[in-house]
Amino acid sequence: MGKRDYYETLGVSKDAAQDEIKKAYRKQALQYHPDKNQGDNEAEEKFKEAAEAYEVLSDAQKRQKYDQFGHAAFQNGGGGGFHGGGMTMEDIFSQFGDIFGGFGGFGGFGGFGGSSRGGGVTKGSNLRVKVTLNLEEVAKGVEKKIKVKKYVSCDACGGSGAKHGTAKDTCHTCHGQGQVTRVTNTFLGQMQTASACPTCHGEGTTISQKCESCYGEGMVKEEEVIKINIPAGVAEGMQVKMSGKGNAARRGGINGDLMVIIHEENHPELTRDGSDLLYYLYLSIPQATLGATVEIPTVGGRAKIKIEAGTQPGRVLRLRGKGVPEVNGYGKGDLLVQINVWIPKSLEKEEKKVFEKMEQSDTFTPRPDKNEHGFFNRMKNFFE
Ligand SMILES: [Zn+2]
Ligand SMILES: [Zn+2]
Repeated sequence: MGKRDYYETLGVSKDAAQDEIKKAYRKQALQYHPDKNQGDNEAEEKFKEAAEAYEVLSDAQKRQKYDQFGHAAFQNGGGGGFHGGGMTMEDIFSQFGDIFGGFGGFGGFGGFGGSSRGGGVTKGSNLRVKVTLNLEEVAKGVEKKIKVKKYVSCDACGGSGAKHGTAKDTCHTCHGQGQVTRVTNTFLGQMQTASACPTCHGEGTTISQKCESCYGEGMVKEEEVIKINIPAGVAEGMQVKMSGKGNAARRGGINGDLMVIIHEENHPELTRDGSDLLYYLYLSIPQATLGATVEIPTVGGRAKIKIEAGTQPGRVLRLRGKGVPEVNGYGKGDLLVQINVWIPKSLEKEEKKVFEKMEQSDTFTPRPDKNEHGFFNRMKNFFE
């Protein structure tokens, strides 16, 4: 069966101007629109036929080819936009959907290609906030109250964006699908791309009477104080997700999430290494030699520890459970105190004499304990 001439299909002359062709197509498309002719196969065929004719005649290049070669111009992959014996309904709406703009009221049409009206549920965007914690807060966990500016659902319209008491309309472009599909021919074959509907931005519906409070957005910007419970043991860069505490979605849908990003403040004296804390303790030569009680910083404040007489530099004292809890709640790290001995850089005359005297004494000859961990072993343990 031969194909009808495209000019004949649209009812225009061969020298018709572009706007004439567009007008003619719109008339046909509206006449054979599936909304008005549900279940009428003949109307659907005519609807498709008109779209095919319009696709060619609305494109200067294709029209020229058609004028020259007729239907043969688009057979055997000759550069036309058709496939599988014609355009699908989806193609037609995605490519020419805007032609129906301004005609209002094709409600209740849906279900092309199996996808249902409205597409997926829209989700508001995520909010990200940075929270700075000191070591104390990291070690104990903390409740922080932060002020965020965010979109919340509009009370006046219940988040729909439509003026109170009015309903939304099904989008004419995508017929409620929220997305449009475009098929393009490339030398690699046909490529099908789906994108958000340009008319309704993927929502599937449009609003004729907008809510006056939110100008149809369904959401308004507000400042909100949010309480965030931060568990003990979090670390720099970690994210705590608070579901549903982000921005409201445009015109209904579900809220985005609030992502709380942890920034850890450095402690002036303690260094964190996972769940352990490190402290470099400097003893004086007499303290290391005679033993002493010294003060060290801990998470809960300062604490006193006893240094035995004859403590070697490099030794690491482990204070169990004085570190940071594991973020999963199981276990707690230690506070590792590394002993250093501070050597004076200059001495008083009398002091110098004391040291010179000590140098003569056999007591001060180094005698490393072979059973004790060697220096390098200790280093290894310390940094593991
Ligand atoms: Zn509103
Ligand atoms: Zn749409």
